[in-house]
Amino acid sequence: MLNIDLRKIYRFTPVEPPPSPAELPRGAEFYYECLDCTGIVNSVPHVKSACTCGNLAGAGGDLDVKDPARVKVVTGRLK
Ligand SMILES: [Zn+2]
Repeated sequence: MLNIDLRKIYRFTPVEPPPSPAELPRGAEFYYECLDCTGIVNSVPHVKSACTCGNLAGAGGDLDVKDPARVKVVTGRLK
C-alpha cells in the first residue's frame, strides 16, 4: 500500500466543469479526490492505492470506485 500524501508532491486543480459521475475521465493526469475522506488516488494507479475509507481502491492501472458521486476529479502537476 502506497500511503504518501500526494498533496506534498503535486498541485491539484479541479476539472471544470465537473465530469459526470457516470463518465469519470481516466488517465495518468487525472486524480480522484474522495469527498468522504479527502484521500487522493490516481485514476490509473500502477501501484496498489486506496483512500482511507475504501471508496477508491485500485492497482495495476485499474481503479474501483464504489461511489462515483462522492468523487471530485482533479488534475495533478508536479510542484
Ligand atoms: Zn475515501
